[in-house]
Amino acid sequence: MRATTRIAEATQESLHRIFTIAEAPDSTLGRLEQEMSQNLVGFLNNHIVASKNALTDIEQDFINAQIPEQPEFVSDHMHHLLDKLVAQSVHTSSPSFIGHMTSALPSFILPLSKLMVGLNQNLVKVETSKAFTPLERQVLGMMHNLVYQQDDIFYQNWMHSAEHSLGAFCSGGTVANITALWVARNKLLKPDGNFKGVAREGLHRAMRHYGYQDLAILVSERGHYSLKKSADILGIGQDNVIAIPTDENNKIDCQKLADKCQQLAEAKIKVFAIVGVAGTTETGNIDPLDKIAEIAQRNQCHFHVDAAWGGATLLSNKYRPLLKGIEHADSVTIDAHKQMYVPMGAGLVIFKDPASVSAIEHHAEYILRKGSKDLGSHTLEGSRPGMAMLVYASLHIISRPGYEMLINQAIEKAEYFAELINQHDDFELITRPELCLLTYRYAPKSVQALLARNDNAANKSVNILLGKLTKFIQKRQREDGRSFVSRTRIEVSRYGGEKIIVFRVVLANPLTTEEILQGILQQQCQLAQESENFLPELLQAAE
Ligand SMILES: *Cc1c(COP(=O)(O)O)cnc(C)c1O
Repeated sequence: MRATTRIAEATQESLHRIFTIAEAPDSTLGRLEQEMSQNLVGFLNNHIVASKNALTDIEQDFINAQIPEQPEFVSDHMHHLLDKLVAQSVHTSSPSFIGHMTSALPSFILPLSKLMVGLNQNLVKVETSKAFTPLERQVLGMMHNLVYQQDDIFYQNWMHSAEHSLGAFCSGGTVANITALWVARNKLLKPDGNFKGVAREGLHRAMRHYGYQDLAILVSERGHYSLKKSADILGIGQDNVIAIPTDENNKIDCQKLADKCQQLAEAKIKVFAIVGVAGTTETGNIDPLDKIAEIAQRNQCHFHVDAAWGGATLLSNKYRPLLKGIEHADSVTIDAHKQMYVPMGAGLVIFKDPASVSAIEHHAEYILRKGSKDLGSHTLEGSRPGMAMLVYASLHIISRPGYEMLINQAIEKAEYFAELINQHDDFELITRPELCLLTYRYAPKSVQALLARNDNAANKSVNILLGKLTKFIQKRQREDGRSFVSRTRIEVSRYGGEKIIVFRVVLANPLTTEEILQGILQQQCQLAQESENFLPELLQAAE
């Protein structure tokens, strides 16, 4: 029931009020705040309604392009938001939503986020952030330490040095990857004699000066699409991100990588960066980073590791060796908003050499003066929020051993789920988990037996049908709203490298139980029976 039928007005007084007076504890917003702070999960369970509304229906609620002429009272607007937005959003922290990399959040994050927003610091410069600047530099130092494990003297020397930076904090893995490749490009095409460097003179003159035909970035075919975006905006061109084939474990084939380097060198095409992936987005596998490091060194190119998703594994002493060789990387991307349980908008790129960032240094007269400690002189983004505080607080509150438990449990849960799939007659495990990510599909026993005959032509049509069935199940499960797995298409070597549609799960939510995982398989079996075309056709083919 609405508490009021008053009409809001835009007056000096009402504007003054919204800047000075908090909503009363018994107002709609006041009550919601209380509900959220007492029990976030309960709040989300109560207010996110898992309904089957199509996005096109939801669009009807967001159809008006007019900026309102009539102000609303906060409480009235809250009702609107709850009904049209919150109710129709996605319960990303639900333990049965295991298809995405957007994690559940510890409850301390909520009041801390409120503090961060309340303080509204701008990390672009010291003038608007003060203690937040050394805090962010310390977070970069801790993450540098996680990757490179230098001694205390190193961090004392560089962490707070105005002319140096151990990395850049940014909104996510995409910006982190762009920043890393930006540094790599500018270091390669640096000032030289009369040439003032690519940053000043642009790519065209840089290529002429250095005598390259073209530039290329090499990454496995499992590389994240943000690398293509980077190549696009850095003037390299998406087609010059060259995909190197992977082996049967979805890891880059190092022989093919080395061959490609040689081939490009002969054509006077400069490979300016080789990217290793530490936790591919689709299969969660880690490239052989130590071998890539050798190849990068031999070819004198920048070695970047995209550990946006998998980088947090370094916090686990048990699983850290999976990323061996990462310490040879010139730069490393890690997303805190993935496996570090920090809210969206927290990415980092770390540089081995504290002087690397001078390649992208920018100054302006009114801010970012030379010699200042302003973080904005070494970041792609300008104004930035104090997200580093949430990483800082999480590292202190959870601590490395706490993170280790979260990481280890996630990987072990993925191993349990893989085992469950393997033991189930009607599911086929497609990629086994190296970290907490795996792919699989529904394939009845008789169909699996048919596939095992290795008749290529027959398998092709069976795989197409299975793909349609997988898509059907995945969509139905998502629409039902109680649980969610994602789907992707990957080349599978046991089917001759054919692209196969699979379910993809990421098991990072600590609240996901074995019972929930069993329930997800059960529901998928039931949904398969509801498919009126694909399943009967498949079973017939397998007879
Ligand atoms: C998620 C991810 C990215 C992109 O990160 P955003 O935070 O979404 O910008 C890049 N690389 C890998 C391997 C990722 O998993």
